[in-house]
Amino acid sequence: MSLGEFDIIARYFARKSARSDVLLGIGDDAAVVDSHAGRKLVVAVDTIVEGVHFLANIDPVDIGYRALAVNLSDVAAMGAEPAWMTLSLSLPRANEQWLDGFARGLFELANEYNVALVGGDTVRGPLVITVQIAGWVEADAWLARSGAKPGDLIFVSGIPGEAAAGLAVIQRRILGGESAAFLTHRFLRPRPRIELGRQLRTVATAAMDVSDGLLTDLKKLCAASGCGAQLNVDLLPESAAMRELFEVDDCLQYALSGGDDYELLFTLPPDQALAVLSKLQLQQRVTQIGVITAPTSDDARVQCLRNGRPFRIERGGYDHFAAGKQG
Ligand code: ADP
Ligand code: MG
Repeated sequence: MSLGEFDIIARYFARKSARSDVLLGIGDDAAVVDSHAGRKLVVAVDTIVEGVHFLANIDPVDIGYRALAVNLSDVAAMGAEPAWMTLSLSLPRANEQWLDGFARGLFELANEYNVALVGGDTVRGPLVITVQIAGWVEADAWLARSGAKPGDLIFVSGIPGEAAAGLAVIQRRILGGESAAFLTHRFLRPRPRIELGRQLRTVATAAMDVSDGLLTDLKKLCAASGCGAQLNVDLLPESAAMRELFEVDDCLQYALSGGDDYELLFTLPPDQALAVLSKLQLQQRVTQIGVITAPTSDDARVQCLRNGRPFRIERGGYDHFAAGKQG
């Protein structure tokens, strides 16, 4: 039996939400949500494409989870609380098993963060998934990339590079027991750092999420803030799982230029950093990795130091349209 467009929506996506601010959800021409005086809306969208962002053989449960996770990560980087999303699905065929898995992964994370699916679009085409998300911040307390000042300390949450190492485990079919499973999970199931972003929203001078690689993304933060940065490679948090399966230089490469971490990169004023950190209720580690410096010439915005000496890595971060890359 083949499923029609309306069957797909009704069976897999039209779910009741516990949110009282969804006034009109799936089923009409558009959704209506309640607004709140004094709050600011935060809106983000991310698209994931089969063959570019995920491999064809990835479990649909992981794809559904990931489609929302990458959006929640953007919301986290703004210091916002997520609330509603829409879903645009382009599917080659109406495969019930795939849809069932996808919806399970999507709603697993949506329920965890109380995000309501309020609408979307369903079309036939190559497998492309777009989630648009909206949330809110109180008053003017949102985080941006642009507020870092020379002297500010640079922090990153979690362990950058584990996701890229996880992708390498999958692609090279590395069988490494627990470590391989752990890294694969870090790639397939990025944890949006919503709680951390909420705690940072009034104290961090700048923040962003790391999706394209730590160095590339730090450069973006510096560009937005009109600053440079010094990144001390020796301070990067070590991953026991990564070290078990990869050489030191590969670990460094993954940490600095591997994508898909979805950790938060943020800056704190040096005189407040200690007090702020001691008050954070952290569910994951946060590590100081460098310091913001005065503006420099554009291509040297971020200087890496290893053992006190300048250090260069070969590969940069991910850019869909950069020469020689598939996109
Ligand atoms: P229209 O033709 O008026 O744009 P559609 O037939 O595309 O409406 O969609 C019908 C309803 O189902 C709308 O409320 C739409 O937001 C919702 N919808 C369609 N596809 C999805 C989806 N993949 N996820 C959630 N809601 C969806
Ligand atoms: Mg309509």
